[in-house]
Amino acid sequence: MGRKFFVGGNWKCNGTTDEVKKIVSMLNEAEVPSEDDVDVVVSPPFVFLPIVKSLLRPDFSIAAQNCWVRKGGAFTGEVSAEMLVNLGIPWVILGHSERRRLLLNESKEFVGDKVAYALSQGLKVIACVGETLEQRESGSTMAVVAAQTEAIADRVLNWSNIVLAYEPVWAIGTGKVATPAQAQEVHSELRKWLHENAGAEVAATTRIVYGGSVNGANCKELAAKPDVDGFLVGGASLKPEFIDIIKSST
Ligand code: PEP
Repeated sequence: MGRKFFVGGNWKCNGTTDEVKKIVSMLNEAEVPSEDDVDVVVSPPFVFLPIVKSLLRPDFSIAAQNCWVRKGGAFTGEVSAEMLVNLGIPWVILGHSERRRLLLNESKEFVGDKVAYALSQGLKVIACVGETLEQRESGSTMAVVAAQTEAIADRVLNWSNIVLAYEPVWAIGTGKVATPAQAQEVHSELRKWLHENAGAEVAATTRIVYGGSVNGANCKELAAKPDVDGFLVGGASLKPEFIDIIKSST
């Protein structure tokens, strides 16, 4: 069986209650392929998870944008995996470059620990990896994404609840999308890495999605690449063109 196309929408730190309601209405009214063919997962900020959960169409799912690395407790400001499970939120995005680099210097080991803990609590994980422009220009793209993936593979045996998101840092929020050939090259290398290090079954079944300035105009060409199993979308997930991205595999 082929890998089901996956489209995630990362709303990041955006929105008011009214804006969130408008985005959800736009999603709810859209005609999209059946959930048998495409997984759609939207990721609002924590504070809007309950309202989105109460309003969103049932064939779309929800992700949090982060969760704490272990059981909750005296960790002011954090949100635990257990809380997400308690709210009925099935997915979480972990290792986004804005957290690895810009905000909190999250190390690859810390992200690996988070992925393992979230999975152990029953969450499904969108795990992000990706290189900076400097790393790409110095030829170390594959070494960087392999090391980030290895920090997950060292801690996780069962990959069935992981979607791997290749998100080159230089493409996120910059309008500078990877070419379909660049995305395909890294995805196919990542799949080869999974084959060698996590096994043939994991490599064949794990969805590897691309993220970084995906929009309604560039999604079809990217989606046509054999190892691009979908997208993690930032800016465009707040706009009507997100629907075109959901439809891009059909
Ligand atoms: C992201 O934040 O995961 C992302 C891919 O952002 P954008 O689509 O805005 O580049």
